[in-house]
Amino acid sequence: MKGSCFFDSQKGFEIKEIVIDAHTALIDQTSGGPIQSDPDIVVIGGGNAPLCSAITAAEVGAHVLILETAPKPYRGGNSRHTRNFRSMHTGSLGPLVDSYSEEEYFADLKKVPDGKTDEHLARLAIRTSEECLPWMQERGVRFQPSLSGTLSLARTNAFFLGGGKGLVNAYYRTAQALGVQVLYEAAVTHLEMDGDHMARVDFPHEGAAKSLTSKSVIVASDGFQAGTDWLARACVGTCGEERPDPWHALQSRRCLGGFSGSRRRTGR
Ligand SMILES: Cc1cc2nc3c(=O)[nH]c(=O)nc-3n(C[C@H](O)[C@H](O)[C@H](O)COP(=O)(O)OP(=O)(O)OC[C@H]3O[C@@H](n4cnc5c(N)ncnc54)[C@H](O)[C@@H]3O)c2cc1C
Repeated sequence: MKGSCFFDSQKGFEIKEIVIDAHTALIDQTSGGPIQSDPDIVVIGGGNAPLCSAITAAEVGAHVLILETAPKPYRGGNSRHTRNFRSMHTGSLGPLVDSYSEEEYFADLKKVPDGKTDEHLARLAIRTSEECLPWMQERGVRFQPSLSGTLSLARTNAFFLGGGKGLVNAYYRTAQALGVQVLYEAAVTHLEMDGDHMARVDFPHEGAAKSLTSKSVIVASDGFQAGTDWLARACVGTCGEERPDPWHALQSRRCLGGFSGSRRRTGR
């Protein structure tokens, strides 16, 4: 593929000449073994959504490879910064006490975007939240009670023991036990489509251009808070900037409440 070029989002320069190495040269940085050729599924991203996808696929027998742009110590995107998740429940559930109904949850959720929400999607997320907590526990995530005196969070929010890092580490352990392979410092830069099929996934790794094929690809690297363009749009009207550029949304202390998060946010 000489003469092609693409943008390296981490280093910020164009790679002019691409030599695609055989992917058999890649090493799974979790087990130390070679990356299995032609995985069934390539999952792009190493946060909560990608890990849950990878675990679900591996549990039904798929060979899964995760490509995570961060080095191992910083893996997990914004998920590593989280503390808890809000769950509907009809009775006590894990660390959650009493109950928290769908209607109450929906009323709370609506307050956040001043009533502007997609009710169908919101209710779907709320209803399915109840089955998430036991699913997470079965896959190694541990919870702790909220601190006493914390408003009514003991009823609504389940806190991860060890915070977001504890959550992410538990999922990586479970994924590894299921044979999921992980390549860190692998920022995907190009997805080559062939009709409605994914023909190739390109990413630089250890200074060389790499390429993989797989039966399916799951892209889970661009949640709302990981997307600089989305953040910039949300920024309008929030902080008074008339023309916020993508990086303003990430850096401004006024914008989105002094929002901070993973340094690996690229919006790609
Ligand atoms: C400071 C902070 C605190 C928060 N606290 C909470 C909380 O307590 N509870 C809650 O419910 N939500 C919380 N959130 C929101 C929550 O973090 C996100 O909703 C959630 O992490 C999104 O998960 P995700 O898997 O979609 O994205 P992420 O966790 O951001 O994962 C995206 C992954 O994709 C990788 N990636 C990005 N680009 C590429 C690429 N080109 N190639 C390969 N990999 C790539 C990233 O490195 C990362 O691993 C918080 C957010 C922040 C910033």
